[in-house]
Formats: sequence, structure tokens, C-alpha cells
Amino acid sequence: MGIKMSKSKETPMMEQYNEIKAQYPDAFLFYRLGDFYELFNDDAIQGSQILELTLTQRNKNSDHPVPMAGVPHHAAQNYIDILVDKGYKVAVVEQMEDPAQAEGMVKREVVQLVTPGTRMSEGGEAAKENNYLVAIAAEDAQNYGFAYTDLSTGELKTTRLTSTTAVLNELARLDAKEVVSEQLLPSDLAASLTNLGIMMSTQILSEELPTAQKNLVQDLSVLEGHAALLLITYLFSTQKRSLDHLQPVQSYTVAQYLKMDRNSRANLELTTNLRTQQRSGTLLWLLDETQTAMGARLLKQWLEQPLIDQANIEARYDKIAGLMSDFIIHSDLQKGLKSVYDLERLVGRVAYGTANGRDLLQIRNSLRQVPVLIQSLKQLDPAIFGEMITQLDPVADLEQLISQAIVDEPPLSVTDGGIIRDSYNETLDQYRHVLRDGKQWLVELEQAEREATGINSLKIGYNKVFGYYIEITKANIAKLDSERYTRKQTLTNAERFVTPELKAHEEEIMNAETHSSQLEYTLFTELRDEIKNNIERLQRLAKKLAELDVLCALAQVAQANQLVRPQLNRTHTLKITQGRHPVVEKVLGYQSYVANDIVMDPQQMIMLITGPNMSGKSTYMRQLALTIIMAQIGSFVPAAAAEIPIFDQIFTRIGAADDLISGNSTFMVEMAEANTALQDATEDSLILLDELGRGTATFDGMALAQAIIEYVHQNVHAKTLFSTHYHELTVLDEQLPQLFNMHVGAHEENGQLIFSHRILPGAADQSYGINVAKLAGLPDSLTTRASVILKQLEQESQQKVDADQGVKVDASNSDTVEVLDLVKEQHPEEKSNQLDLFAPEEPNSQERTV
Ligand code: ADP
Repeated sequence: MGIKMSKSKETPMMEQYNEIKAQYPDAFLFYRLGDFYELFNDDAIQGSQILELTLTQRNKNSDHPVPMAGVPHHAAQNYIDILVDKGYKVAVVEQMEDPAQAEGMVKREVVQLVTPGTRMSEGGEAAKENNYLVAIAAEDAQNYGFAYTDLSTGELKTTRLTSTTAVLNELARLDAKEVVSEQLLPSDLAASLTNLGIMMSTQILSEELPTAQKNLVQDLSVLEGHAALLLITYLFSTQKRSLDHLQPVQSYTVAQYLKMDRNSRANLELTTNLRTQQRSGTLLWLLDETQTAMGARLLKQWLEQPLIDQANIEARYDKIAGLMSDFIIHSDLQKGLKSVYDLERLVGRVAYGTANGRDLLQIRNSLRQVPVLIQSLKQLDPAIFGEMITQLDPVADLEQLISQAIVDEPPLSVTDGGIIRDSYNETLDQYRHVLRDGKQWLVELEQAEREATGINSLKIGYNKVFGYYIEITKANIAKLDSERYTRKQTLTNAERFVTPELKAHEEEIMNAETHSSQLEYTLFTELRDEIKNNIERLQRLAKKLAELDVLCALAQVAQANQLVRPQLNRTHTLKITQGRHPVVEKVLGYQSYVANDIVMDPQQMIMLITGPNMSGKSTYMRQLALTIIMAQIGSFVPAAAAEIPIFDQIFTRIGAADDLISGNSTFMVEMAEANTALQDATEDSLILLDELGRGTATFDGMALAQAIIEYVHQNVHAKTLFSTHYHELTVLDEQLPQLFNMHVGAHEENGQLIFSHRILPGAADQSYGINVAKLAGLPDSLTTRASVILKQLEQESQQKVDADQGVKVDASNSDTVEVLDLVKEQHPEEKSNQLDLFAPEEPNSQERTV
């Protein structure tokens, strides 16, 4: 209605603008007007603030001046990126016809809707990461079809998920910025997406997709197919162009990979440093010695999805060992890979129609490396690398074609000519002949005119406005036979003329120029289409090159950091000799890091680690998790020797990572994470609980800690590392046969407490606190008194444990009860007895052993 009312008052252009804007109410409209993109009305007001543009007005003197802000068309991409990064959408409106030829209003259309999930970032660090768009088809809160793609590479994957938590975990793994769905999502999921700052877009499913894309989803289950179609429909409706680079859909299940939830990934700092939110200091930072952006992205994917299939893992080990066996070949391969460009994204640009001459040359140069790489690989063990060699298709026909077609230094623009080589196309050669001859003709004409007029200073020149001209100084004008010469321009000292001959020649040259650049553009797009026909081959090659790159990187890291090949097993035996934390070690230096063993098996299932703060407990626990993750992505591991059972899941509750996003208290997060571990862990899982219970009152915390340990011992049987400063818990080893104590060594030296960072058998001597107090110089009488009090407290708490009443809950302590109720609410589907952490434990531990 608003539009209609204003219609009569609006100029035709603003009418057109309003019509388009009405279709994209939630996007900034970049409206092309000559050399600028203009923003109007609210877009202009808000946009000028965000983008720091000058706010002006259109139709200033009318009754309805329109707020306006503009950006030059050549700089538009930067501005679009800024808006999209901030979580907005941008609709790009182009002029669909030449304004000079248009009758009436120039036709304009939205040619692309740029959104956070469809943004294609170029170059630099951003190229090392995928940008994923996710589509979700929700049947109900337990049934989701889940599909994702990276538009720049065309990778397309789908899975089925059976809980909201699973959806959130996948979204966290992908670091998704935008989710597409058909209807509103279940409310708890929607709320979480809002909390995480993920954009939610809706899309009506279209049946009118190109067959090629419809075929992509043929073999999928209904829900997965639904999600994939939704994703593709959304891509078409926002990108409005060919999407031939979308790859065949790969369906996966989360059970194919080592499972970690959002908090565990964050806690372990796999790809993001908790403190700085950067890459530095993460496992990815340590491992990323890749030479290509494709490799960097693949490595990150591997790290986010460690394998559980032993044969696949071992195949990676074999290749790493093979590469490490020949230093020269290994470094030749890496040198070769360095000259490989981002084939995946280049191919994306080809399909997308945005690739220019330089992009094609980058494809060509990359292809040229393939035979070189193959040559090197052939010198390694064929039993290990034979398959890879046959899979590396050099796509030599395209390499040749591009070489024949494209000049060595093509311009950025694809429409101005200068891209195609001589003798690639006969007609083009003829045009060029005319142009070259034309130059000679001008030289000759100049000479002839000089002779005819007797004016030696006569010059032939060219400018954009007047074209070709004959220039004669004022002093010589009199000598001119005025009939043939038409005056065009007067300067201070000279006059400029044209002759009919010159005019005719000018036309011939201009024609040749336009024709030749038009022809060049046609030839270029034909070549681009030919590459497009080979997209699948190029994508397969890109995948193999990326894989080779990652394996070379892992081999390099293994060499440089003295990693060993793990022995995998299915017997639940974990035996790491002289293990190290790879990242801490890298930071501290190899010499300063104290290596430690970790030995666990079904009889030694729960390790209780005691020791003072800053002694190295959490480093030791993280070290184990990182070692396992490295082993399962196929990397060698930081140890002298390692026997590792393949794990299915890793759960962590380790320090620092308070859940700032959800605003939950530390203790609440602790309990929720512990709960997830207790519910989902199996005997193939690893649970790391660091100082659990710290966030609440001592007895509360201790009671929960003990109950949780007992629960794991009785019901879960996962390998569990539990660090605690509750010394009282160390007696549990008497009752729980599969629990054993370890502690961190420390001694006093020159009045200082020195941590050896050695993890030793048995419980810690608990008097460190009082020790430290002594060192700080507190009076002897005071510390002696503290020792006495400590003894008493110890005895009291001991009695409680022995009485085996668990810990009595004081009904008035409603805080605790509430917190636990909350934990329950989060998992209402779980059987209540599993959650009843206060239920008295069955003391007869003998019966519980496996
Ligand atoms: P805790 O968990 O016991 O409080 P941390 O694991 O945080 O202690 O370790 C404290 C510091 O000690 C770490 O920042 C690290 O620099 C150092 N550290 C820990 N383990 C080792 C080790 N094995 N060798 C050398 N330094 C270590």
C-alpha cells in the first residue's frame, strides 16, 4: 500500500527502485547507476553509517528528497564484503541494457544476492578455510536432513541427524554462518542459532531445477534429499547463474568419524585459540605445513573429522612413512605443490562465469605441475603410491588448449581484448593485421601530407574525443589547401583537421578494434566453456592434489617434531611412552618439555590425577586427547612409541572454556558437559574431566566428583582422566578396582616449590598448600595449626565416604538442587535414574567389574 501511495509522487527511477526493493526487503540494495552503486532511503542511512559513506539526497528540491549514498562500482566488492561479514544480505542490481540505447527507463535486475553463507572470499588467509552454507529439513526435533556446501568449491555433503544437539555440533564443526530452511525450525534450535549469531534464511522448495542438479540428489534418503534440494534451490535463487561446479553429493553419517561436541573442540583448541580466537597456538597451526590453499582447507577438514576406520587411517600412515623415507623426493613434491594454485576455486569461477584470462593461466600452470609431481611419486614405493599416481590425471588436453589460446600476461578484463594469442584464430589474426597495417598506413599518410603541403611540422595524432586528426601549427595554416581539410579543433598554437581519407581509415580501424575484442571475448568464453565441460576431471584432480599436499605436510611435521607412527588396536590398550603435548612443546622448545607415559586398559580405566595448580595436570590430559586426534586423522604422534585403541568419541571438561555464548555459569556448564559425557560415552570413548566440581562449594563439588567417578566406573567404562585437588578422592582406588591414582611430582628447592611436570604413580602428597604458605613466610605456629586442622577435616570427610551415604543433600541447599534440575531439563529424554547423581551408589564394586 505504501508503495502505491508514493507511486504518483516518485520519479520513474525511484518507482523502479521501490519495486525491486519490495522483493528484497531484508537486503541492502546496491542499485547500479552509471559508475556507481547507489543505496536509497533506510539502506542509505544505515549503510552510510556502517560503511562510512557520505549521506546525500536525490531530488533535493522536490517535496520528497530521497536519502542516498553511493559507492564506485569498481570498489563495490569491498563494501559488499563488509556488510555480509556483519551478517547482512546484499542484493546487487545491475543495468540490463546499455543506457545509451535504452528507450525509457533502463531495465534493471537483481543479478545476485550475496549472503553470509554464499559469500566467496578471495585469497589470503580466508582461502585456507571453507565458507559453508547449511540447509536443514526438519521433520521434528528428532529428525533432520542436513546438507551443506561451499559455493566456491562446489563440495556438497548431506547427512541425517537425530537430535538438536547433533545439529548444533555439526554447525559448530562447520562454523556455519547461515542456515536455510523451508519452514520455521523447532524453537530450541532456532533459539540456539540466534544465540550463535547464525543467519536463518527461508526458501520455498522449487521443482524447477535443472536436471543436472536434480540428478545430484537422486540417491539420497527423503530428508537428506529434501535438504540438498533446498540448498540448491537457495543457491539458484540467490546466485542466478550456472552452478555446474556443484559436485556429486556425498552422504555421510556422524558415526563415521570421531565424535566431539562443540565444547570439546573448543576446549582442545584444534583450530581456534581460546584466548585469541586465532589460529596461532592451535593443533592446526602446528600441522599446517601445506603448500596450497586446497591442502590447508582439507587439513582443517581432516582435523574436524578424525577417522575411525583403521584401514583408512593406516593408509595415511603408509603414505607419510613413504614420504619420510626419501627426503629429496618429499621436498621436490612440496616444491611442485607450491606452484599449484587453488584449482578448486578456479574451477568454481569457471563454472560461475567469473574466471578471467589470469585465472585460466593459473589453471594451466597448475596442470603443468602434475606430470612433475607424478615423476617424483614414481620414485617411491608403487605399492603405496601406485593408486595415487593413476588418480592424478594431468588433464593435458586442457593444459595444451589454454597454452595455445591465452597470452602470457593477460589483462584483468575479458572484454577489452589482448587475451588471445596470435595464430589461435584466423579471423582474429586478420583484424590484427588491419590494426598493425593501419599504424603503418598512418606513418605513410603523415609523410605524404607533409610532402603535399610542404609543412614539415605536420603531425597525425589521435585523441578520444575527436579521433584521428592532422595537426598544423598556426604559422603554417596559410599553406593549407582548405577544400580537403575540415577543421575540428583549435588550440593556442595549432589547428587540427580531418580529411575524408583519414575519416574512412579511422572507421576501419575502430571496426577492427571492436570486432577483434568482441571476437576475443567469444573465443575466451568458448574456451571457458570447454574447461567447464571438464569440471569433474579438474575437481577430482584438485582433491588428489590437496590430499598429497596434506600428506606431505604431515610428513614434514612428523620429521621436524620427532613424531612416531602409532600402533592402532581394538583391544582397548592405550600405551603411550614418553608422550608430549605437541603445541606446548613447540612453544616451550623440545628441550624444556617433560615427556610422560600414559598407560591404560580395561583394568586401569579411570586415572585420578592429583597435584597442585600449575603442575601440569591439564596439559597432560590435553596431550592425550591431541595425541589421539592426531593418530586418527592419520598423523604420526608426539611420543617415543604409541599403542592406541581407536576411539569413537572424546568428551572434555577442561578449565577456561566458560560458555560465554549461552551465558551459563561455569558450574552449570561443567555439569552439562559431564552429563553429556555420562549419557553418550561408550567403552571406546575418552573422557577428560579437569578439576570437576571446582565451581561450587567444596562438599558439593567433592560429592558430585565422587558420584560421577563411581558412575563412570559402574556404567560407562570409558577411559577417563580425572584431575582433582580433592585429595580425599584418592582413597577411591580401594573401592573401585579399575581406578588408579597418579600425581604430579614436585619438590622444594632453595625455598621454592618446583614442579617436575612428571606424572608419577600414586596419590599426591597433599600438603602443598601449606607448603606454599610456609614458603610465603607465614608464621610457623600458623602453618602448624593449619596442618592440624587439615588432618581433622580429612578424617571427617573420610568418615563420610566410608559411611557410603554418598553425600547428604541438605534440602535447604536449593541452589544445587536447582542446578541439577536444569541439567535434567536439558536432557528430558534420558532415563531419570541415569541422571540421579545423588542416588546412593551400590558399594559392592566387585559386581560391577567387566
Ligand atoms: P594444572 O592443570 O596442573 O594447573 P597446567 O597443565 O595448566 O597445570 O600447566 C601449567 C604450566 O606448566 C603450563 O602452562 C606449561 O607451561 C607447564 N607445563 C605443563 N606440563 C609440562 C611439561 N610436561 N613439561 C614442561 N612444562 C609443562
